[in-house]
Amino acid sequence: MVKINKNYANIKESYLFSDIAKRVNAYVEAHPDADVIRMGIGDVTQPLVAPVVEKLIAASKEMGEKETFRGYGPEQGYIFLKEKIAAYYKKEIGVELEPNEIFISDGAKSDIANITDLFANDNVVGMPDPVYPVYEDTNVMCGRRIVFFEGNESNGFLPMPDENSEGDIFYLCSPNNPTGAAYSREQLKVWVDFALSRDAIILYDAAYESFVSEDLPRSIFEIEGAKKCAIEFCSLSKTAGFTGTRCGYTVVPFALEREGMSLNKMWLRRQTTKFNGVSYVIQRGAEGVFEDEGLKKTREVIAIYKNNAKIIADTLSECGVWFTGGINSPYIWLKCPSGMTSWEFFDYLLNEVQVVGTPGSGFGKFGEGYFRLTAFNTPEKTTEAMKRIKELLTK
Ligand code: PLP
Repeated sequence: MVKINKNYANIKESYLFSDIAKRVNAYVEAHPDADVIRMGIGDVTQPLVAPVVEKLIAASKEMGEKETFRGYGPEQGYIFLKEKIAAYYKKEIGVELEPNEIFISDGAKSDIANITDLFANDNVVGMPDPVYPVYEDTNVMCGRRIVFFEGNESNGFLPMPDENSEGDIFYLCSPNNPTGAAYSREQLKVWVDFALSRDAIILYDAAYESFVSEDLPRSIFEIEGAKKCAIEFCSLSKTAGFTGTRCGYTVVPFALEREGMSLNKMWLRRQTTKFNGVSYVIQRGAEGVFEDEGLKKTREVIAIYKNNAKIIADTLSECGVWFTGGINSPYIWLKCPSGMTSWEFFDYLLNEVQVVGTPGSGFGKFGEGYFRLTAFNTPEKTTEAMKRIKELLTK
């Protein structure tokens, strides 16, 4: 008789986004003329930039010609794209990588989930709370014990380890989803030294690195020693509007070894066994992101979102509301005014000013009393939503 993976029964059901949809739909049904503005959007809204689209079209045409048609590609990604990413790391971030330390995938979510294959299930996993739910759920699926690092106002939602902290594998996400907070180099150095001191591994999610504009780290590999203890995940989803196009990359340094095994070789083996790579056409489109014109144009799009984030952050400052994020991130994490719970504030905004956000309690117990707004709506709608919120909170 088959024995199933019973750990699946332990995964918390997430009703967050369906509960939000239910409440919004009920409101719209009762108020059909209401102009509801969605500030909870976690998806990009601006289209792919022209240089990327041109590359996608050219590559599609190649696939229709006998001379240039391609079948299976390298599972870990085409060298043309890995070289472009290595050059980007060097020029933009100041980090030297070998192309074969970079693995191309269909996005960060898959890699973050699949990396669990490389580690035994009796590892203890540490992650922040509030948290991007994929870290938690994928480890629950493996039956691993999880310890949470509390994010709160006093640590700016950037929890740090101390000598009593438990764990063998640590997830860090900076700039963070959902809180928008970003670690400094000094803080990441503490994490790296802590991981090295106990032969632990840091799984570093840099999905929002392209939103960093202050002098903050964009890669964990900016930190000395990180190549001996960290794996980095990145994605073109928010960088270049690839949420529907799908492409990401993961860096597993050659220097990363545990128990006499190279994690780079293990990941290569895992990917070549279980994955057949990202399509040639998409990888050519992704290449366009890292070329001069593509980089320039994607930065213009990011500037639109960053400007939205600034509009939100400025409004909250004017209203005297405590928040993190909004400067180096498309997310703004605010403290619900007047001691409201996350869902009370959700209902208050929806009923009073028809603005929708995301209750912080949906990201973990330490998210209760907080609320996430995102910068992915249009500048016009963002401005209008903030005008309404300002009127409401200062009346
Ligand atoms: N990591 C974080 C923190 C995210 O917020 C997201 C997407 O929302 C991802 C990873 C997944 O990115 P991708 O679209 O590349 O799978």
